[in-house]
Amino acid sequence: MASTPSNVNLISDTQTRPTAAMRRAIAEAEVGDEQKLADPTTLRLQERVADLLGHEAALFLPSGTMCNLIAFRLHLRPGGDEVILAANSHPVGFEAGSPAAVNGAMTRQLDAPDGIFSGAEVEAAVRAPGDRYAPRSRLVSVEQTTNLGGGRVWPLAAVREVLETARGHGLRTHLDGARLMNAVVASGDEAAAWAAGFDTAWLDFSKGLGAPAGAVLAGSAALIEEAWRYKQMLGGALRQSGILAAAALHALDHHVERLAEDHSHARILADGLAELGGVSIDPGAVETNIVLFEVADAPALAALVAEHGIEVGALGPHRMRAVTHLDVSRRDIDTALEAFHAAVPC
Ligand SMILES: *Cc1c(COP(=O)(O)O)cnc(C)c1O
Repeated sequence: MASTPSNVNLISDTQTRPTAAMRRAIAEAEVGDEQKLADPTTLRLQERVADLLGHEAALFLPSGTMCNLIAFRLHLRPGGDEVILAANSHPVGFEAGSPAAVNGAMTRQLDAPDGIFSGAEVEAAVRAPGDRYAPRSRLVSVEQTTNLGGGRVWPLAAVREVLETARGHGLRTHLDGARLMNAVVASGDEAAAWAAGFDTAWLDFSKGLGAPAGAVLAGSAALIEEAWRYKQMLGGALRQSGILAAAALHALDHHVERLAEDHSHARILADGLAELGGVSIDPGAVETNIVLFEVADAPALAALVAEHGIEVGALGPHRMRAVTHLDVSRRDIDTALEAFHAAVPC
């Protein structure tokens, strides 16, 4: 495509590029052999995230997808185990079938359009113990914030209710915190409050936090020791990973509070879109940096605004998703809204 004067990338918060300051932190990183536990920067990041999430230990991994895969491997055994999670959650739709392929597990998918489910829904989904006909309920997985649910923030009380129900049935629990820091900033509740009570929890550095790659999985010392085994098995053990860990540490120091800007930009975008007759949107549902809306023809509208340099995702025939992040300014939001105004008949 011909280059356009404006380029506003609202496809995903994975699209962030390392800032100049982050690149300096990367350049200055002290490094060693990560597999030998000799990369000081990676060790520092792991300790920092374990503290942040209030868990005993943590493990640096190349991606959030690998955090989910390994955590599920820790909790599920081939032989009919089942994980309870939202139907629109990341492991169901975007991890190449790994719950089945790697863990031999069934997924019990809860219909939760905003990605949030209740203790009662978990209760109803749990299989009767000792039922030899049914899969064996083993794990509950919660996504915070909810990606395809529209960046919604689980209320803390809802998380606790689900944890309590899971515990009552002896189930393991996992927190997919790809955008946990967005929830922290939006709610004012600390990361450790959100991660408390989960057997495993992780956060991603390559989303709104703006690092090039990397995620950290936290849990008990015993679970993280076992996680190392799978990290090695999958080829996820690294060498001078301090290069990446330095970017993540820089992000924790400099890119957390600023997520509030992304949230405010998303809200402004949502309010502007709501003024268009051809757009169906509930701006009140925009709590963080993800804006979901419906139009008559999503692929056609995405193509139209792309002519104005606005990149936005068509998730289906009607549904569109715009995500704000580090590389989207207040001015970019106005530019995007102008393009939508031009493209959508009022
Ligand atoms: C992006 C994402 C992941 C996967 O993280 P990657 O670092 O891209 O592998 C997992 N869960 C959710 C909710 C996500 O949004």
